[in-house]
Amino acid sequence: MESQETAHCIVCGEATDDGITVVNQFICTSCEQEMVKTDVQDKKYPFFIHRLKRLWMHINA
Ligand SMILES: [Zn+2]
Repeated sequence: MESQETAHCIVCGEATDDGITVVNQFICTSCEQEMVKTDVQDKKYPFFIHRLKRLWMHINA
């Protein structure tokens, strides 16, 4: 049995094993799903962009 460390989602801060890791940054499944279906026109979009900016900055650093 593998013991996995519970990751914290960078978007919502939830601790869960259910999600994806992008460049060492963890995004939970629900946030990933939200982002996939979030339209640019959506009010939530700026929120995701704001949270993800850190991630992109990390990648481009
Ligand atoms: Zn999340």
